[in-house]
Amino acid sequence: MGNIVRRHLFVIVLLMTVAFGQSGTIVLKTTRLLDGKGNVLHDQDILVRNGKIANVASSGSATYDLSGLTVLPGWIDTHVHIDWHFGPDGKLGDKDESAEQAALAYAANAWKTLQAGFTTVQAVGSVHDKDLRDAINPGDLPGPQILTSLQPIADAKLTPEQIREEVRKRKQEGADLIKIFASTGLCSGGKQTMSREQMEAACGEAHALGLRTVVHAFGKSVGISAAAGCTSVEHGIFATEEDLQIMAQHHTFFDPQVGLVFANYLENREHFPNLNEQCLKDLGDAMPKADTLLREAMAIPTLRIVFGTDAVAGAAGRNAEEFIYRVRDGHQPAMAAMVSANSLAAESLGMGDQIGSIAPGMRADIIAIDGDPLTDITAVRRVVFVMKAGKVYRNEVSRH
Ligand SMILES: [Zn+2]
Repeated sequence: MGNIVRRHLFVIVLLMTVAFGQSGTIVLKTTRLLDGKGNVLHDQDILVRNGKIANVASSGSATYDLSGLTVLPGWIDTHVHIDWHFGPDGKLGDKDESAEQAALAYAANAWKTLQAGFTTVQAVGSVHDKDLRDAINPGDLPGPQILTSLQPIADAKLTPEQIREEVRKRKQEGADLIKIFASTGLCSGGKQTMSREQMEAACGEAHALGLRTVVHAFGKSVGISAAAGCTSVEHGIFATEEDLQIMAQHHTFFDPQVGLVFANYLENREHFPNLNEQCLKDLGDAMPKADTLLREAMAIPTLRIVFGTDAVAGAAGRNAEEFIYRVRDGHQPAMAAMVSANSLAAESLGMGDQIGSIAPGMRADIIAIDGDPLTDITAVRRVVFVMKAGKVYRNEVSRH
């Protein structure tokens, strides 16, 4: 090979390297970075390539300058109802709403949720979530990554064998997890509905099929669900110290909603036609109970408390308000609250090796907020940058 040819080849390779470097790699310059696992890193740049984090280091260049902001992994909400919305008449369950109007409302909720910094959500309770998931996950529609249980298993008249059959049916229908109601709703007293045998059937069958189980439970149903090997317990009010200990022993994830869901019902009461006065009173009374429960749960160091909001109609896009309730009213340390929606939530979804932390190889789900949530938890309301799988969906900072 002649010298001139060799020199030309060298130049071409050099140009290709520069071109690929510029088009293929996005550099996020940060000064304060929460890694999702409880550490604060300073002056690190996140290199993003092919939708994943390629490296975290000091690079000197920047595609997006996130200096002065707090940068962290995209939040994960492990309990949402992303299809719930107020219809054209302003109320939940508008009978005159068309299927098209409903579908647009789901898409709007997905957009609002993503804009608020939530890059993954677990939707626990509707067949509608499937089409939404399947439109968003390939990138056709903007929204958080959605995992869904489809229709929950709630009929306590089912025998254990019938429950196993239901679990197998959900799996065939494409559910990512199984949602089970072990108790009635809060406004019906949160009474036990499913027996230990029924819960063992549901969670045992799901486990055998490789599916996680998320259980709506109050009072003694909390301990029963944990002992039955279910993955996660939601709500948990009226649980005793013993129930909390059973969850810790069985490594059950606990998702105690302490504020947003109650406040949202109370603030939007005229939009929920089915809420009567007694129920509204019960929801208001639940708030201090939930704060106490969170404090009791935090007193057990091995109990893993994850972040889930139970965001219903009116709460999509306001998911981060739950952080404020947990930290301000429940006295959860702010860093623990952040981790509960990052690496811990990811672990609860069985996705700890893909999302929820900022490290090489993780999916580039990255957000930035204007302020420091560790000193002022209300900063969670000021999300100014959202990247999901390397694609920027919100940007109020300058691009270089
Ligand atoms: Zn719920």
